[in-house]
Amino acid sequence: MMQIFIPLNFLGFVYREMKGALANIEKMFSILDVKPAIEDASEAASLAVAQGAIEFRDVHFGYNANREILRGVRFTVAPRQKVAIVGASGAGKSTLFKLLFRFYDVNQGSILVDGQDIRNVSQDSLRRAIGVVPQDTVLFNQSILENVRYGRVNASDEDVMEAIRHAQLDTFIQQLPDGVNTMVGERGLKLSGGEKQRVAIARALLKHPPIMVFDEATSSLDSHSEQGILRALQEISREQTTLVIAHRLSTVVDADQILVMDQGRVVEQGSHTELIAAGGHYASLWRMQQRERAMDVEPLAQ
Ligand code: ATP
Repeated sequence: MMQIFIPLNFLGFVYREMKGALANIEKMFSILDVKPAIEDASEAASLAVAQGAIEFRDVHFGYNANREILRGVRFTVAPRQKVAIVGASGAGKSTLFKLLFRFYDVNQGSILVDGQDIRNVSQDSLRRAIGVVPQDTVLFNQSILENVRYGRVNASDEDVMEAIRHAQLDTFIQQLPDGVNTMVGERGLKLSGGEKQRVAIARALLKHPPIMVFDEATSSLDSHSEQGILRALQEISREQTTLVIAHRLSTVVDADQILVMDQGRVVEQGSHTELIAAGGHYASLWRMQQRERAMDVEPLAQ
């Protein structure tokens, strides 16, 4: 990774674009430990995304040969659906995202985007079709406007401002000393977890990919930030197929589908109402979080 990185240092916007994209993805997936083992098929076509449908077809996967992490995962996501993935820590939620990005190949089964097996398309075209909102966003020592522009480096100021509005960041920005020109990052203003995640949402909205993956921050948010994130997420999922790893069940109540994962399998699947009625895993998770909320303590990280 560093070998690619350093020579690009002087290449102006190319560098900026790379850095933005890489920092986001690196942070989310810690890909520095991902071996560059995945190569494009020799005749790899570009992924043609018309709708943004996703299918996991009996996917088995392990990082090592001696331990299977996903053990026959099957689900489909219709175009523009919002699907939430919940489950205990270590259940395999982030692994689903890594496989969708093809950081690894499945051991068995397949993953299809709009009917195309992702092993048959170029990784570049696959990753262009997917926007990421990571748990913890890297902010550069630049203005908030430039930080959002990383989503699409040639975007106009108007487009950046529109993304900022849709990401519910405008009220927050109005209170800053220099508005959108306020410097943020390590040497600038420090943003809270919720504000940083909204910067990531604004970046992703600017990129406007047909598929969006959202890894909800586990850090505790005050109810104002949480509402902001929820509204921003609704903006994202209105037009794009959206997969959310959700830690707060408040995020999933309006999802079209909720996948409950346990030990590498999808053990329950349905809408919030259906899963509550089913009285299983999800229903007890929901009751537990309701109790925690009532007691006003942080939700358990999942
Ligand atoms: P969390 O909510 O804590 O993020 P998760 O449901 O997203 O958990 P994953 O991160 O997908 O779970 O991890 C599933 C399992 O795979 C865990 O047991 C984890 O230790 C293991 N795992 C994750 N990444 C790697 C890796 N790069 N190499 C080996 N094992 C890994």
